[in-house]
Amino acid sequence: MINISQWFTAGKLEAKVYRLILKSAMFAALFMGVCDYAFSSPLLAYLELLFAFASSLLLLNTYRSTVSYPFSSRIFIFFMALPIYWSLLCSESPLESTILFVFLPLISIILRPFKEVIVLALLFGGSFIGIVLFYQGTVELSGIELYKLIMVQILVSVFIFIYVHNNRNYQEIISMQSQKLKAANLQLEKLYQEKSLEASTDSLTGLNNRGAFMPQFEQLHARFDRQRERFCLILFDLDHFKEVNDAYGHSEGDLVLQHVAKESLKAVRKVDMLARYGGEEFAVLLPNTPLQMALSVAERIRNAIEQNVKTTGRPITASFGVVEIKEGMSVSQMTDLADQALYRAKADGRNRVESAE
Ligand code: GH3
Ligand code: MG
Ligand code: MG
Repeated sequence: MINISQWFTAGKLEAKVYRLILKSAMFAALFMGVCDYAFSSPLLAYLELLFAFASSLLLLNTYRSTVSYPFSSRIFIFFMALPIYWSLLCSESPLESTILFVFLPLISIILRPFKEVIVLALLFGGSFIGIVLFYQGTVELSGIELYKLIMVQILVSVFIFIYVHNNRNYQEIISMQSQKLKAANLQLEKLYQEKSLEASTDSLTGLNNRGAFMPQFEQLHARFDRQRERFCLILFDLDHFKEVNDAYGHSEGDLVLQHVAKESLKAVRKVDMLARYGGEEFAVLLPNTPLQMALSVAERIRNAIEQNVKTTGRPITASFGVVEIKEGMSVSQMTDLADQALYRAKADGRNRVESAE
């Protein structure tokens, strides 16, 4: 169904047609005004010139858009009705006005939304026939002319009804289809979000995977290039993890990895980005952070793992390499430096934090 808000906002599509009608009405009224002034009634000519002036104002408004389109076109239709009624009341032949009058509902169809067209057609048609019947005695109107008049009005009303009815059906079909489309789009969007989350998340730990981590790294690096906003990288690797797997089985090892992820996530700050970098290797990006601060975050993670992650009584530890971005350092150089620091931490007895020199 057509709702009331659509009804009032409708009409953008017809703006061009509206301008064309306004231009035609303006020139026709101007021409008729000049003719009437010269040959017929000056009073009628003034009215026609007034009509031409009003049309030009409405036309100007379509370019400036100071008045809404539905309101402007409504003024036009009623304004158009005035000279027609005038001509109907004063003219010798009502048939002349009939020809004009048939245009009113037709113009309404072009300019107005459907419901309003029905109202306008009934209003104009009804009043028109009323006036004709009222004046039937005073003006020369034969029975056959009146019959034709009524038939034309009925015909126009039937056309309008069919037009409106068909359009309403289309409208309903379109709105049904668009609802279906909306639902399908929503489903697709949900699926897309799920898939992209799946693609960027490590299924075991729920942390970002390396694929999601690298763009964040590149982004921070680019920001350093532009704004000199320094940042740090921590790489850490679980100590002797192979032995854990060998001693307690792979699935126990998986549980340990999950636990390490949980503890590390608790130990980092909200702004830090933790990811599972490889098998039992993790990485943290620390935006807007100096080395000293990064070292203390690394120490906090190390401590949290050592204190809280255990498997059948055996403590789990990790070794850390920390590096701060420096002028001219690339992403891969930074990773290599963190790796080297991590290697030193391993060589120096594990379960410790080392920074790049
Ligand atoms: P180091 O202290 O030198 O790091 O010793 P390590 O034993 O941790 O080093 P290594 O690289 O030799 O072993 C890493 C182990 O991590 C081997 C691999 O089986 C295990 N691993 C990697 N990914 C997973 C995983 O997803 N689940 C489990 N359970 N184990 C994993
Ligand atoms: Mg290891
Ligand atoms: Mg390793």
